[in-house]
Amino acid sequence: MKRYSLAIHGGAGTILPSEMDAQKELNYTGALKEALAGGQEILASGGSSLDAVETAVRILEDCPLFNAGRGSVFNAAGKHEMEASIMDGATLAAGAVSGISLIKNPVSLARKVKDNSDFVYMSGLGAMDFAREQKVKLMDDAYFFDEYRHAQWLAVKDSSLARLDHSLLKEKKFGTVGAVAFDSQGNLAAATSTGGLTNKKYGRIGDSPIIGAGNYANNATCAVSCTGYGEYFIRGVVAYDVSALMEYKNLSLEEASRYVIKEKMVKLGGEGGLIAIDRQGKISIQFNSEGMYRAWVSADDDPVVKIFL
Ligand code: ASP
Repeated sequence: MKRYSLAIHGGAGTILPSEMDAQKELNYTGALKEALAGGQEILASGGSSLDAVETAVRILEDCPLFNAGRGSVFNAAGKHEMEASIMDGATLAAGAVSGISLIKNPVSLARKVKDNSDFVYMSGLGAMDFAREQKVKLMDDAYFFDEYRHAQWLAVKDSSLARLDHSLLKEKKFGTVGAVAFDSQGNLAAATSTGGLTNKKYGRIGDSPIIGAGNYANNATCAVSCTGYGEYFIRGVVAYDVSALMEYKNLSLEEASRYVIKEKMVKLGGEGGLIAIDRQGKISIQFNSEGMYRAWVSADDDPVVKIFL
């Protein structure tokens, strides 16, 4: 049997059983299962971790339940400004995009930046020019319109508040999506995609497209994808911090990721979590919020899907 493991997330935050009815829970677990199965199919047939994370994230981007791709939140101008990144642990090659709109699958544009350009990170109009050159799939505005996201935006649009992906004040939810994988060749990869914060302005960029902050992969250590209040994850250089603790301090993945999320992030005041895989294919999932949409599978173990603590 081919060795592999895969973990995905659909965001962390104040996700409580009391706020989730049975149907809603079923919708979320169904979407997570589908994305996990998409990535698993690639890994089980000997495909690469890079293809697996891109495929899993594409499926999550196509699902309006998550704040990425189709379900992206509205910015202060009432538009969608998406961002994504992908990294190959074997070569440390990476691609990232931000300030893009109308792109069906931002993670695949990030992959094209990595594969087909001399650059790592493209933004705004330039990234859109590149997208057209690369013939990535564009959709019209209506595809990204979601009644629930629109109501979230209407509630804050006349204020200076930039909100995390939530509707009620007590419900804080980060709907960013991500995937990390370990393949039969022993290669690691990570991908992350988001619509960012509701009502964000001034071209605000979060941690998701920033290599080392919200996303990182290195065959020598681990692959990491984060979700949470991006400003804290940028300041904490979270994804790279986990890798650095393993590389320079010989911590295990579990020790490093737990320390970064449960101690360092808490001290800094940052809320959120991460999914990670090490070079033996071991998975660690950590969060300091009430819940996190997450799922994982390996060659030896059946898929697991979880939402609450
Ligand atoms: N990390 C994302 C950001 O700050 C938000 C999220 O995880 O949902 O843009």
